[in-house]
Amino acid sequence: MKLSFKTGSEGPAHDPYGYDEMTVTLNNGVVVLYHRGLGSWLEVTFPDCKPIRHDGHDSAIYHRFVSIVGYEPRDLEKFEARRLSRCRQCGCRRTTSESGYPGESFEVCIKCGNVVSSDFNEAAIR
Ligand SMILES: [Zn+2]
Repeated sequence: MKLSFKTGSEGPAHDPYGYDEMTVTLNNGVVVLYHRGLGSWLEVTFPDCKPIRHDGHDSAIYHRFVSIVGYEPRDLEKFEARRLSRCRQCGCRRTTSESGYPGESFEVCIKCGNVVSSDFNEAAIR
């Protein structure tokens, strides 16, 4: 899974409204863009297909996101914060994701191989 985050503003120039966007690329190639600003919407792109946009009530969009991605947006924000943490051994900021047992994944320092963080996702093995 790949994550990227973006913030910006939308709405009229004299009254802009901040938004944030989270783009999740799932291991099966599905790309999910979650937009939260004046309104929430999702844009889901299946491999070799045109993006499908989902509009609706904020909570409906939120639940749709969770059902497609399998994670709560706030969990992904936590993953990202952890991913940006430094390696305690060499201070390197770059890590690579590796998966261990089903449901388990960890971030490994690309320089020294030290495990920077690990995560266990119970939902993946249920
Ligand atoms: Zn390191």
